[in-house]
Amino acid sequence: METRDILVRGFGLILDPLTMPMPIDEFLGKYGGYIDTLAIVAKSPEGVAYYPSNSAPRHASYEGFFPVVSSIANDIGIKVYGVIYSNVDRFLGKDPNFRIVKSGGIPVDGYVCPGQETYWQYLGSVAQEVASYDVEGIILKDIAYPHEEYCFCDTCRHNFAMETNITDRDFGLDYVKRSKILYERWLKMRVSNIEQLVRTVVRAVHSERNVKVLPEIIVEKEIGYFDGAFIHYGEDYARLIETSNQIMLSLNPWSQQLPNRDSDEYEELVNLLTPFRELSSKGLNTSLFVVKPNDSMLESIESLKSFLGSENVFVQEELPQNYLELRSKFLGLGV
Ligand SMILES: [Zn+2]
Repeated sequence: METRDILVRGFGLILDPLTMPMPIDEFLGKYGGYIDTLAIVAKSPEGVAYYPSNSAPRHASYEGFFPVVSSIANDIGIKVYGVIYSNVDRFLGKDPNFRIVKSGGIPVDGYVCPGQETYWQYLGSVAQEVASYDVEGIILKDIAYPHEEYCFCDTCRHNFAMETNITDRDFGLDYVKRSKILYERWLKMRVSNIEQLVRTVVRAVHSERNVKVLPEIIVEKEIGYFDGAFIHYGEDYARLIETSNQIMLSLNPWSQQLPNRDSDEYEELVNLLTPFRELSSKGLNTSLFVVKPNDSMLESIESLKSFLGSENVFVQEELPQNYLELRSKFLGLGV
């Protein structure tokens, strides 16, 4: 899909200097007049800040990217959202104290365990810094466990063992699944961790400024939509809505497709999304997120936007770095 076609519809592009096809000056010169909204990456999947952060490490070449681009955008009347990649973090995800661990004890680089309270605080500090800039809102990407088999790090096992009196501390997913009660408590702990992570960030942001915080909710067909998101990603949308009354629904980010408007699959998606439409009359703001859409998906995006009364559609034009590796993790494809 052409960049211009995305922008003329008022969709907000996600801007990351590392994946942009042209320098930012050229981009704004070419498209500035068409842009209504921009979502500018403030903390990247690399785990580095594109602004002079005092909390996160700064990118060697792009520490001025976020302040400069958001300021120019504001000057020409463009609404700016700051994007924070959360648990996908290749800097802290290298640290044995933070990185996520698969059932069986295999640590996985590049991904931070969502159950670490110190990480919630860290992300809160980052988000507070981003909120000090002139932004309409903050998008919290990747606030999820990557799949059912995570996380079995020392902290997660310790916390769960304390709660349930498990004596064997080397347990994995098989052990937890042997008892229905234990498994339910395990899922509940994960959901609670994701919720606390978002709550900590919302609180930190609102201590700075009253801007919107949009946690991402993954709506992925391949894992069975919301039931799958609860089990695999630890995402309970009802609880995430309560944290800020804002959400960003990520539509099939890993299968990267949207059903045609006249298909049964589209009907199924609409039925699943109906509660969000009902909640919007009670003040819930929804936004949509799509990765690298093609022209044939456009009609479905527009019609879902109007069905939900969504405020924004955010579009990621280029696949993020390590996309295939992340996709395998999030769909449980065995990498
Ligand atoms: Zn953990």
